[in-house]
Amino acid sequence: MNFIEQLAPLAIKHGKANGVLPSMIIAQGILESRSGTSELARKANNLFGIKAGSGWTGGTYTVRTSEQGQHGNVTYINAAFRKYPSYEGCVIDLVHKYTHGTGWEDHNRYAGVLGQTDYKKAITALKAAGYAADVKYAEKLIERIEQYNLTKYDKEEPDMPVIFIDPGHGGKDPGGGTNKQFTEKDMVLKISLEQKRHFERNGIKVVMTRTNDEYVDSVPRTNRVKASGAQYCISNHINAGGGEGAETIHSIHASPVIATGILDALVACGAKKRRVFSRKGNGNTDYYYMHRMTGSVSTVIVEYGFADNTSDTQKIIKDWKKYAEAVARYYIEHVFKKKYVAEVQTEKEDDELEFTSGTLRNTVEGLLSSHAKQKQLIEDGIKAGSFGTVWRDKFDKKQLGKHDILGLYMLHHK
Ligand SMILES: [Zn+2]
Repeated sequence: MNFIEQLAPLAIKHGKANGVLPSMIIAQGILESRSGTSELARKANNLFGIKAGSGWTGGTYTVRTSEQGQHGNVTYINAAFRKYPSYEGCVIDLVHKYTHGTGWEDHNRYAGVLGQTDYKKAITALKAAGYAADVKYAEKLIERIEQYNLTKYDKEEPDMPVIFIDPGHGGKDPGGGTNKQFTEKDMVLKISLEQKRHFERNGIKVVMTRTNDEYVDSVPRTNRVKASGAQYCISNHINAGGGEGAETIHSIHASPVIATGILDALVACGAKKRRVFSRKGNGNTDYYYMHRMTGSVSTVIVEYGFADNTSDTQKIIKDWKKYAEAVARYYIEHVFKKKYVAEVQTEKEDDELEFTSGTLRNTVEGLLSSHAKQKQLIEDGIKAGSFGTVWRDKFDKKQLGKHDILGLYMLHHK
């Protein structure tokens, strides 16, 4: 997990709850600790150079710093900084500084920073309060916020649930569930991205193994799962090897409830039911590494069907979006216990044609409701040279929608 991913949940948890923008806190961490690589960050988990002070009872870390005097003479001083068991302590202290000021005589010092929704205003207030000696401090923070797109963390809620989606395979590994119509790695990536969209629409944060055609070995793959902060993981796959139907696999240590719920949801979309199972490897461990190596994250492997089965393949090609949504919806409703917000359908295009005249409406509606009239229009149009024979082929193959017919009508009658 990189520095930003590590700091962001803390900045959201403690910053957001107290009116301090997470983006500003993260930018301060990046700048002041050089993304966690400074001595103070490495040795004391202190990202913001917070001094120990007289009231501090926790651990300290002493840094010998040089200061140049007025006459160019260099003196050394030992400064004691707060030492924390993790980054969380220093985030709490930074936020406390903003909410409580720097002492009873100046407790409103950072009031301008609080409750801001615009990071530039928050940072301007920080500068005005004299937070840093560096005259370019504000400018540097803004630069980092924009460079790393940190404002996205300002929009996240403190206890937003997280789910991990693992599109199987990738890169040089196409996956065994590959046939002439699709490769497993591409199909499961499409399914995974579709699921991501549905989760995010419903206020659930998604972390993924990969969002493009990347090869990820088992160790980095499972490390990403463990570092995500997610409690649940869906590992998407297409099967092969001479079977039929969808199946879900849970850990030998887990209850089959979620795996069963997912399979039932897929079956409700038309998938053939194969089985829910778990598989033991050596000793008392799971056979599949996505179960064995993902720690406490509850992982279900979902096999949407067999790439070497014609019926499964046709269903996957036709219904992969439905399958993806069904799985996401199951988690949203039954695992995260949230009300599922269905997607707003934008079918206006197909259902509501707008007309400027009643006569035209009657003509068009008559045309659209009669197969014979459409056929006649196509033949008349081709004969008159209004359009080509390709439209007869399309019509015969039932490839034309309302708008196509209407378009041909307009071409023929213009
Ligand atoms: Zn696979």
